[in-house]
Amino acid sequence: MKQRKYDAVVIGAGVIGAATAYYLSKFGAKKVIIIDRGPVCAGGTAKSCAIIRSHYSILSNTRLTLTSLEIFRNFQEALGSTEVDCGFVNSGYLIVAGEDSFAHDMKRNLVQQSNAGAKTYVVDQAQASELHPLLNVADAAVIGYESESGYADPYLTTAGFISAARKNGVEVETDHAVRKIEVRSGKVTAVRTDRAVINAGAVVSAVGPWTRTLTDALQLNLPLEISRHTVLTLRGDEPYPGDMPIVKDLTTPNKMYFRPSSGGVVLVGTGDHGDPVESADGLEQDVPADFVLHQGKQVSHRMRKFERAALAASWVGPYDITPDWNPVLGSVPGVAGLFVAFGFSGHGFKLSPAVGMCLAQTVLGQAPAESLHPYRLSRFAEGELLAGTYGIGSIS
Ligand SMILES: Cc1cc2nc3c(=O)[nH]c(=O)nc-3n(C[C@H](O)[C@H](O)[C@H](O)COP(=O)(O)OP(=O)(O)OC[C@H]3O[C@@H](n4cnc5c(N)ncnc54)[C@H](O)[C@@H]3O)c2cc1C
Repeated sequence: MKQRKYDAVVIGAGVIGAATAYYLSKFGAKKVIIIDRGPVCAGGTAKSCAIIRSHYSILSNTRLTLTSLEIFRNFQEALGSTEVDCGFVNSGYLIVAGEDSFAHDMKRNLVQQSNAGAKTYVVDQAQASELHPLLNVADAAVIGYESESGYADPYLTTAGFISAARKNGVEVETDHAVRKIEVRSGKVTAVRTDRAVINAGAVVSAVGPWTRTLTDALQLNLPLEISRHTVLTLRGDEPYPGDMPIVKDLTTPNKMYFRPSSGGVVLVGTGDHGDPVESADGLEQDVPADFVLHQGKQVSHRMRKFERAALAASWVGPYDITPDWNPVLGSVPGVAGLFVAFGFSGHGFKLSPAVGMCLAQTVLGQAPAESLHPYRLSRFAEGELLAGTYGIGSIS
């Protein structure tokens, strides 16, 4: 078996692994490799709606997103390359709560978010309609607006980090699955593939929903479940403008959101649990007609013009969910040199630049730009869960 040696190995070339590999190279790691079992952006990132908003009830999430937003908004400058483009569209973001659905929490969270530096405001129904002329918000009790938020392109973002990492000397290997993380005397020594033993003192596992396929052999029993989420795109009578604000509707039981998508369609997703599945491989692709009907009704309640909308496309993707719907980031107690980033629970895209930056700094023994302490693995055993005020779902 071929033996190779690196300072750090990043497993998984989704947006989290790609950002981490880039920041490792930026912050001084000399010999870094990122390795994926498929092509770049083969996992959950490829299915992402890629919405970037800073509304959370958990302050550390807002802070990570604000750091990320700055990077999305200035991607070329941040990555030091004119050849990258994350496809960010500054559409703005509206979040709607009803009297019985989170109005009180939302008011408090908007203040917290604003104090953290977000450009966010409470708007009234008339202002919301001005921002989004198709929107019916007659039943809204509180409406929040983020002027600097928007959405990006998940593939372009991941490919951008990979390209910038490559420029800094990071090696990128695709179609090369890691089979095992080797640990000796409580310390990571290497990762093993079918072709090579890749020796490294630091291994970052960024394989999202596939995390336990690598960590179960280490008896880590990580708290992680997988669910299947469906995204639809709907075509109305007229093309939906690409700069319409994203809408998050907390009055709907599945915490629906929608945003513009290419080709003048509306992309519609849910922020709920989704269907539990055993594995992220081979997800059922069929989308039941009653689900499409249900989502269509919710959309046409908010936008009357969509009463006769047609289904344009649908796809499914995996959420990697932890018990408190927040990621686990950082070192693994008892396994020196192993770092994990998993459990993004449906909201990892917006966090990815800041997570990549802070995780890389942690791996290199530098002080992270934002503390990753709230995201430590031991929080579950310590009973210090990052439980948000919106309950389960991808807004916590
Ligand atoms: C439908 C949907 C909509 C979403 N919408 C949003 C949104 O609007 N905003 C937001 O912030 N977040 C959203 N998310 C969540 C976000 O997309 C994810 O949290 C994020 O993309 C996860 O990235 P990742 O790099 O951790 O994982 P992944 O993208 O899944 O990457 C993991 C990689 O690991 C590789 N891999 C697996 N096993 C191995 C192995 N043994 N060896 C080597 N490589 C391996 C896979 O091939 C894959 O490329 C959404 C997710 C879904 C599914």
